[in-house]
Amino acid sequence: MSAITNHMPTAELQALDAAHHMHPFTAGNELGEKGARVITRARGVTLTDSDGNEILDAMAGLWCVNIGYGRGELADVAARQMRELPYYNTFFQTTHVPAVALSTKLAELAPRDLNHVFFAGSGSEANDTNIRMVRTYWAMKGKPDKSIIISRKNAYHGSSVGSGSLGGMSYMHEQGGLPIPDVHHINQPHWWAEGGDMSREEFGLARARELEEAIEQLGENRVAAFIAEPIQGAGGVVIPPETYWPEIQRICDKYEILLIADEVICGFGRTGNWFGSQTVDIRPDIMTIAKGLSSGYAPIGGSIVRDEIADVIGSGEFNHGYTYSGHPVAAAVALENLRILEEEKIVEHVRDVAAPHLEKTWGTLADHPLVGEARSVGLMGTIALTPDSERRAAFAGDSGAVGYICRERCFANNLIMRHVGDRMIISPPLVIRPEEIDTLVSRAAKALDETYDEIRKQGIFKAA
Ligand SMILES: *Cc1c(COP(=O)(O)O)cnc(C)c1O
Repeated sequence: MSAITNHMPTAELQALDAAHHMHPFTAGNELGEKGARVITRARGVTLTDSDGNEILDAMAGLWCVNIGYGRGELADVAARQMRELPYYNTFFQTTHVPAVALSTKLAELAPRDLNHVFFAGSGSEANDTNIRMVRTYWAMKGKPDKSIIISRKNAYHGSSVGSGSLGGMSYMHEQGGLPIPDVHHINQPHWWAEGGDMSREEFGLARARELEEAIEQLGENRVAAFIAEPIQGAGGVVIPPETYWPEIQRICDKYEILLIADEVICGFGRTGNWFGSQTVDIRPDIMTIAKGLSSGYAPIGGSIVRDEIADVIGSGEFNHGYTYSGHPVAAAVALENLRILEEEKIVEHVRDVAAPHLEKTWGTLADHPLVGEARSVGLMGTIALTPDSERRAAFAGDSGAVGYICRERCFANNLIMRHVGDRMIISPPLVIRPEEIDTLVSRAAKALDETYDEIRKQGIFKAA
């Protein structure tokens, strides 16, 4: 067989892809019918596909390409590290320079006494580590029954058996026998969809107090930890009411429940601070990291852990680890990514320039007849599509049908924007410039216009 390259016709690549490549979160039959979009190269915030289209990537890949595409420094560092030491493990009391340097740097960047890093290859793996670590921690402190982890419906914490169990996506639990035992889900602080007649503030408090109710019902001596994303990403960029997080922190403190902040999306500048925990002002015991840690240039994740927990875990042997925990090439790439984020003041750019500009321009979409609310925090944005914004109504037809049409209209206008049900969400590279944000918002507005025309033509602009 001849080499498969960028120069092959798109249809041939698509046919081979459909024949041999099993895709995550994709219906196989659709692939056969329509073919996958083939992305061939990228620079800054712009992707190029196999037909030469230039597409503004308002999702930063999968929420991860924080420093933008095409940074040759990371390629140089990876090549250098591969020549010097492509691989060695960190098991059985061995280490290497990239793991030393990256863990030291992360301890410096992370708030308070979050000073210890357990490396993984991804966010899913890191959350699997967290399940075993918090249960082991309590067992080593003589409380083996403290094993339940409380999470939230519509949370996303990964796709492995453990992390998928922590997540609250019911369509994931339906496949493969999830969740594992001793995971308990409470409701999410999603005011737009579930707030009913309550104000945002009342609703935020009510949803936080579900944690307290769950702890009292399950028994304080049974609950090990609460895990949550500071701002839910894959669930549809759910920005909690301001009352939510202070109450959650109070409850975790009161009942001695470990707080795990899943920073896989919010970390590394996404919300205008280094960590989302700083934006929502919480004090986690463990932070899950991945995605923006390496800006997606190499697969790496981990758990950043407080002194006291690391001391307890370190007082025995933690029978856990991955072949690629602290992989030297991935660690070197991550370190270079952090250097760029820091030296080019990219987090400050988000906070002072990009986020305020996005909030202003993205906010104008709320005036569109198809849009109920348009919100953003840092560089995470969401809009709710609705036939009746007054009532915050859902559409009469299948949930997600209108969102899907809108996503397709975005693609047709060279914009990658994702839909979660009938919400549209964005999470662009952090280096996006104000004029690129203007392009993003004007393409989104055009896609909304076309969606509006289309669904009225189809007769599905109707409230449930
Ligand atoms: C993506 C994601 C994960 C899982 O990370 P993977 O690297 O895909 O395993 C976990 N938590 C959150 C919040 C995520 O967005």
